[in-house]
Order: sequence, then structure tokens, then C-alpha cells
Amino acid sequence: MAVDIAETGFEAVIGMEVHAELLTRSKMFCACSAEFGGEPNTRCCPVCLGLPGSLPVANRQAVEFVVRAAMALNCEINRETFFHRKNYFYPDLPKGYQISQYGDTPIGVRGWIEIETEDGGVKRIGIRRVHLEEDTGKLLHSSPSESEVDYNRSGVPLMEIVTEHDPRPGFDQINTAYEAREYIMQLRQILLYLGVCDGKMEEGSLRCEPNVSVRPVGSREYGTRTELKNLNSFRSVYRGLEYEIRRQIETIRSGGVVVHETRRWDEENEVTAPMRGKELEQEYRYFPEPDLLPFRFEETQLEKLRRELPELPLQRRRRLEEMGLSRADAATLTSEKAIADWFEEAARDYGDPKPIANWVLSELLRLLNQAGEGIQSCRVRPAQLASLVRLIDDGTISGKIAKGVFEEMFRTGRDPREIVEASGQTQISDEDAILSAVRKVIAENERVAADVRGGKEKSIGFLVGQVMKETGGRANPRLVNELLRRELGAG
Ligand code: ADP
Ligand code: MG
Ligand code: ZN
Repeated sequence: MAVDIAETGFEAVIGMEVHAELLTRSKMFCACSAEFGGEPNTRCCPVCLGLPGSLPVANRQAVEFVVRAAMALNCEINRETFFHRKNYFYPDLPKGYQISQYGDTPIGVRGWIEIETEDGGVKRIGIRRVHLEEDTGKLLHSSPSESEVDYNRSGVPLMEIVTEHDPRPGFDQINTAYEAREYIMQLRQILLYLGVCDGKMEEGSLRCEPNVSVRPVGSREYGTRTELKNLNSFRSVYRGLEYEIRRQIETIRSGGVVVHETRRWDEENEVTAPMRGKELEQEYRYFPEPDLLPFRFEETQLEKLRRELPELPLQRRRRLEEMGLSRADAATLTSEKAIADWFEEAARDYGDPKPIANWVLSELLRLLNQAGEGIQSCRVRPAQLASLVRLIDDGTISGKIAKGVFEEMFRTGRDPREIVEASGQTQISDEDAILSAVRKVIAENERVAADVRGGKEKSIGFLVGQVMKETGGRANPRLVNELLRRELGAG
């Protein structure tokens, strides 16, 4: 089925529904821990178990997190908003309804997010709504005849973010699996920058459910869509959509029709398979939640939240590019807010971003990676990297020795100057000391010395190497070169 989608005359149209579990300490409507995992059914109380007579109290932090996310996604914020009950029966939903936000009063509406397309262009994707709800429990199908339910996740604050597949004027559409993956990557990074979600797709704290349809290029009508579930990595978002788009095109071309249904991505066999039909619109009997008051945002409260928004990843990457860094380097440095913060602090201290970027990209990230650690636990302070680079600049140590010093800084958190002085690794810039080594090396390597005298420039490299060896790698290479040339009368 590996047809080239672009050559079929069809295009895909994709709308993304994303659920993000919020990084609050407690659940949405009770004081139980919202942390992932835990012994099943140990993080529950009458509220999140839906016992009769229990009353919900809204988690203020969760509301603020959603406002923050909605603002970062360029949404208009509804000044007054409230919760609804969405009624349905399912064993992972103990109350028999989910508290959610319905209709036209979610916290955020009419936003947008920028993504980069495969050819390097930019698309502005409209966001229809950003709202707050609660997560359900989790069913564990332990054997073909037995299922268990864990309510630890029941009532964890959940944010839903939905894009527009039918763009407003001035906005663009997600048309490929590549763009859908870019969207989720970009969104995830924004949520991580804001600190509102941990973004772990493999643990289900960020869940992505694309709706996709296909239509002949140029058609104004939309095709029938299917919804994909069980995409728990960037890779599966891409592969799942690629598969599903091809499947729909093949279905239509062979005279069939696409059925409106939910399909599950089967990671192992790399196919989508029907899960449940959607021909019947579920009747959720939404009504305003009577146990919770509507909430109103004060202008000053919103202004404060807006002021506290950090610079977002795409803007930050562009700013780093303007400092003269390559796009790839800027992207790596802004992949995490904490890395970007660390880098910028060191760069400011040193006064030139380029050498600092090189050290962070080649040495620091490598060592962190090796140690399996995040930048948060890094012992080296940004100012210490700046002083290390200054030690190279003023000739105290060579670049090669600096790498070893940096490894020790990484292990111990000690100051570079202290390490260099303690180990006697300072670079030898004393002319007399180097000259005696130069003379010794010339005496021991007469043939090579004669070659150089005779004009064989290239051989000087060997002698430089010998002098460096003689001085334990500590001689200032520029001086070694100069002195060798002077002694040998070479250019
Ligand atoms: P549901 O009630 O099934 O969740 P929504 O109206 O919430 O449906 O839409 C879910 C997502 O599907 C939205 O992002 C929406 O833009 C998208 N969508 C709706 N119709 C289509 C279509 N024909 N093709 C692609 N995406 C669509
Ligand atoms: Mg929906
Ligand atoms: Zn509880």
C-alpha cells in the first residue's frame, strides 16, 4: 500500500484533539495526589470515587495552568466560564459522568500555533478551544476473562486542546502526517516550557487523537473522518496517520466508502483497526454542574498570568538564530527551557554565544547524556563554563586540556581555575622552558630537523607533536611553532 500520497490527487485534512494531564500536586476536585502510578486504588477518596454526598472543590492551580496554556496558544480567554456534566456509563468513570467544559465557554477559544512544514515554510494552525476537565480511571485487562480498574487516575486534571480542521481566514490546515507530528511536538514543547504538563506520551500524560479525512485536491467538501487512538509516541502519530491516509485513499479509489469511526493504531502490526462506530452521535445529556460555581477571572489576575508567561520555544529558537547560531544548534539549545536558560546565562557571562554554544552542544550535553542526567542536576554553573573558556583565551590552558578540566568540573562542580592549579596543568607560556624542550627535540630528531631546514614544511608538525609530548601537552602550541621555526630557520 506504499503509494505516494502526493501523487494520488487526494489530500488529507487533519484535526488534532490532544489531552494533557496537568502537573498539579492534587487532583481536579479533591486533595488526592495527582502523581502518575502508585499502588492501584491508593490515591482515592469519596470525591474521586464518586461516592454519594461528596462534593467537588475546583483546583485553582489547574485553572491557572489552563489559562496559562491558552494564553501561550494565543487564545482569547473567556472572562466567565463554568463546568458541565457529560453523562455516560463506563467502568472507569465511577460518578457516571465526567465534569468537563462544553459549548462556547471553555477557558480559551480561537487561538493558534505555528508549525514548520516539510519544505521549511510556516503554517499557522487555528485552535478552536482549550478547556479543563477531569481524567477517568484506568482499566487493566489482566486476562481474557478478567478486567481490573484503578481509580488513581480518576479526577486528575486534564486539559483538552482541539484544532480547527476548517481554517478561519488567514489560517492554515494540517494536511500531512509530518505536519501533525510537528504540531504535537511543538505543542508538547510549549506545555513543557510552561511547566503545566510533563509531556510523557509513553505514560499517557500527553495523549493525541487525530481526526483525519481525505478529499480530491481542489474539492471544497470535506470527506468522512476517522479518529485515531493509541498513538503514544511522535513516531506512532506519524506512522499511524500515514497508514490511515493511504487506507482512506485506497478505500475511495476502489469504490468503497470511509466509515465515521474510531480506529486504534496497532503498533506491532502497523495498521489501524476499527474500535467503535460513530454513526450514532453519543447523547451525553450535558448540563451545567450544579455542585460548582461558575468562575470569573479578574482583569488583574489575567494580566499577572500573562506577564509571567515565558518566552516560547519557537521564538526563543529564532532569537538564538539571530545571535548567529545555526538552526540545528539553536533547536537543540532550546529543546528544553532549562538548557536554554543555562546556555544563555553562560553566554551572557562570557559575552559571546558561539564558543559557549559549542561547549554546551559538544561537551555538556554529551556528559549529561552519558550520565543519564538532566540539566537540572548539573553541578557546573553557567559562570564556571565562562571562566573555563576565558582560561583558554588567555593561554592558561590549551583547548585539549580544557576538555579534561571540564569533565572534572562536571564530576565535582569545582571551579576550573582551582582544578587547573591543583593539577599543575597550566599551559607553559614561558619561552625559556619551551625553548629547552624545542632544542632537545631537534637534537633527538636530526633527520626530520634537516628535512625542515631543507624546505619540507610539513615535517614541522611531527616536531611540534614531540615538543608537546615532552611538555606533557602543556606547552602553548603557538609558541612551540614559533620557536621551532626560529630555531630551524624555517618560514
Ligand atoms: P468529536 O465530537 O467527534 O470529538 P469534534 O467536533 O470535537 O468531534 O472534532 C474533533 C476534531 O476533528 C477537531 O479537531 C475537528 O476539527 C476535526 N474534524 C472534524 N471534522 C473533520 C473532517 N471532516 N476531517 C478532518 N478533521 C475533522
Ligand atoms: Mg471531541
Ligand atoms: Zn480524591
